[in-house]
Amino acid sequence: MEIPATIAARMQPCLQGLEPYDPGFSACDINVSANENNLPVPPTVRSALDAALASTPLNRYPDPLSNELRAKIAARHGVAPENVLVTNGGDEALFLLFLAFGGPGRTLVDIQPTFSVYALYASMVGTSVETVLRDPSDFSIDWDALAAIDADLTIVTTPNNPTANLADKDALLGYVATTDALVLSDEAYMEFADEDLSVIPEIECHPNLIVLRTLSKAFGLAGARIGYLLADAGIVSALSAVRQPYSVNVLSQAAASVVLDLRGEYGAGIELIKKERARMAAALAATGCIEVFPSSSNFLLVRMREGSKVRARLRDEFSILVRDVSAMPELENCLRITVGTPEENDRIIQAVSTLSKEYAS
Ligand code: PMP
Repeated sequence: MEIPATIAARMQPCLQGLEPYDPGFSACDINVSANENNLPVPPTVRSALDAALASTPLNRYPDPLSNELRAKIAARHGVAPENVLVTNGGDEALFLLFLAFGGPGRTLVDIQPTFSVYALYASMVGTSVETVLRDPSDFSIDWDALAAIDADLTIVTTPNNPTANLADKDALLGYVATTDALVLSDEAYMEFADEDLSVIPEIECHPNLIVLRTLSKAFGLAGARIGYLLADAGIVSALSAVRQPYSVNVLSQAAASVVLDLRGEYGAGIELIKKERARMAAALAATGCIEVFPSSSNFLLVRMREGSKVRARLRDEFSILVRDVSAMPELENCLRITVGTPEENDRIIQAVSTLSKEYAS
């Protein structure tokens, strides 16, 4: 329900005007609206997960810092455990950043269009938001415009959601080296691009650089809520000081631990998603979509005639749920479609083709 005015008036001034988050979910046969991994969990992982969950005691509080997991994540990325903070999804990591380093008198640079949660969390703790728009032709970043802003926190999403493009790594590192701001490189989708484009190895020489990763996307654990930050140990300590001690529950820690041990099992699925991404992009372009933007992620940004109507008809007539991002700056008539299983993708291509033809004339 909407928040009644009398209740809203009791909320903190910087929270008035907020409404409960609506992911725009409705039950459909094919859900390609939230950039999850639609492929089945590899069978070896599934049985290891079942065994680990079955033997996890539930009567004890979790390890607050998820130390076993932290060590595995540190080993995966070649950093020390002190450089890792495990969180209840990447979302918690983002909130902690604003709680610790934002607030009144501080400024976030928000490079739009991008993940809407950054500006939301900034406003929740009273942080000012300065928006820098991307180049509308290819969604590249105006690094000079960023450098001109006296920022406390800058978030560079690479690959970006929902535009699916990578940030220029050298330009990002150049910016990190010259700004006083804390810079978060949000790499939630990096597994679908190229690990060589990650800036994780750079956290050692740039104490103002923070990297976000999640197990929600490539590793299919969106429901278990496991994300993490990699950063200077001092920053990790500051964030640890403001977090709820038990935010990452024992079952999620156990599941993530198994997934990290067996992460090699996900390689074939990630390759399949990349292959399907290329197949879908070509097929959707051939259906008469106005534009299918290049993607380095597990979703496609597509511009169509009557985008919002197409989204509603895909849901109501074809039971396919995609995300309408057409209200975001520069994204008129754009939809975001997660790459699904090959069978799902066939049905999506077929449905989009049918609707595109109707709106072509
Ligand atoms: N960053 C980006 C760019 C995202 O798109 C998302 C999820 N949609 C997240 C972070 C957070 O993901 P999670 O909380 O599931 O780890």
